[in-house]
Amino acid sequence: MSDQPARRADLRVDLGAIRHNTRVLSARGRRSGAATMVVVKSDGYGHGAVPVARAALESGADCLGVASVDEALQLRTSGVRAPLLCWLHTADDDFGPAVDADVELSASSVGELDRIAAAADRRGGTARVHLKIDTGLSRNGCPPAAWPTLVERAAKAEERGWIEVAAVWSHLACADEPGHPSVDRQAERFQDAYLRARAAGLRPIRHLANSAALLTRPDLHFDLVRPGIAVYGLDPVPGVGEHDLRPAMTFRSSVVGTKRVAAGEGVSYGHRWTAPHAVTLALVPVGYADGVPRGLSGRMSVWLAGRRRPVVGRVCMDQLVVDCGDDQVHEGDEVVLFGPGDRGEPTAAEWADGLGTIHYEIVTGMYRPRVTRTVVEA
Ligand SMILES: *Cc1c(COP(=O)(O)O)cnc(C)c1O
Repeated sequence: MSDQPARRADLRVDLGAIRHNTRVLSARGRRSGAATMVVVKSDGYGHGAVPVARAALESGADCLGVASVDEALQLRTSGVRAPLLCWLHTADDDFGPAVDADVELSASSVGELDRIAAAADRRGGTARVHLKIDTGLSRNGCPPAAWPTLVERAAKAEERGWIEVAAVWSHLACADEPGHPSVDRQAERFQDAYLRARAAGLRPIRHLANSAALLTRPDLHFDLVRPGIAVYGLDPVPGVGEHDLRPAMTFRSSVVGTKRVAAGEGVSYGHRWTAPHAVTLALVPVGYADGVPRGLSGRMSVWLAGRRRPVVGRVCMDQLVVDCGDDQVHEGDEVVLFGPGDRGEPTAAEWADGLGTIHYEIVTGMYRPRVTRTVVEA
């Protein structure tokens, strides 16, 4: 893990882990006859959309998913040519460049569908469209009451050659709570919507499963699965089975100074921690501006000089302080703030638990102006 010393704040992204996870997940989908869309929205959940996309496509992914047209076009500009879907549009998104770049577009309403069809008509192309039904998440997606109108309209636009309806799709609200009754309810509504699309003359594929449903509900794989978080090695349903995933992100820094303080000395702003006896403190040049949550002050540890050691006192904007007891630590020593956990270092999941949030929020928030990101094959 110490291939290159971290200087100040370094995110190390292990593409070997991305490849491994993609192989594991796409094999699970293939067992049900499903292809795999790897979701690389929000810059690949903070890991780097382009290197993640490339590694995933070489390891079993068939296509990619992102939220916005802009994210899709950035991948195209970087030379990623694989099939690519985006689904969250703004009122003034111009779909023309997406049509030109062969980006597949989700449509949740007649308004979106018409704008996509018009863009394709203007460009003289055909847009590949995934019609999204809201089966119970109540975010985007077409409400069931409006669905018959949407599929009729889509069938007409398909006849005119403006669009090709590639898929009917939806997204689950509670897939990370296996057994939650909403999952089956959503699956039923999904089936109704699909049958309605077939009745309108459309011949779409179906996709519904995120990481959690991919791992826990093979009966909901349909034609395509859409894992995101699991590709990055984070367990979408902690405590439910062993999924052989490897976390891809490690956050490291290094010791920039050490000092001995006497019993009774207060440490960091507010003196929320006082040395109970003489101790050696290590100063680490990362703080909440670098993604270390201040909310973990007094409740986190780091891996340093062969073991876990507590961060003491408040996490500051630019720095934090580690209690090293009577041990020898040195300027330049590597500090692992979180990683896969193999060596006993903290994990992103542990940070999330400490904050009452989910690991998704941790990893997507780590890449910041002072943080470097190093992509390695390891
Ligand atoms: C983010 C997202 C996914 C991936 O979800 P994970 O829980 O990260 O696997 C799949 N589908 C849609 C529509 C999404 O927005």
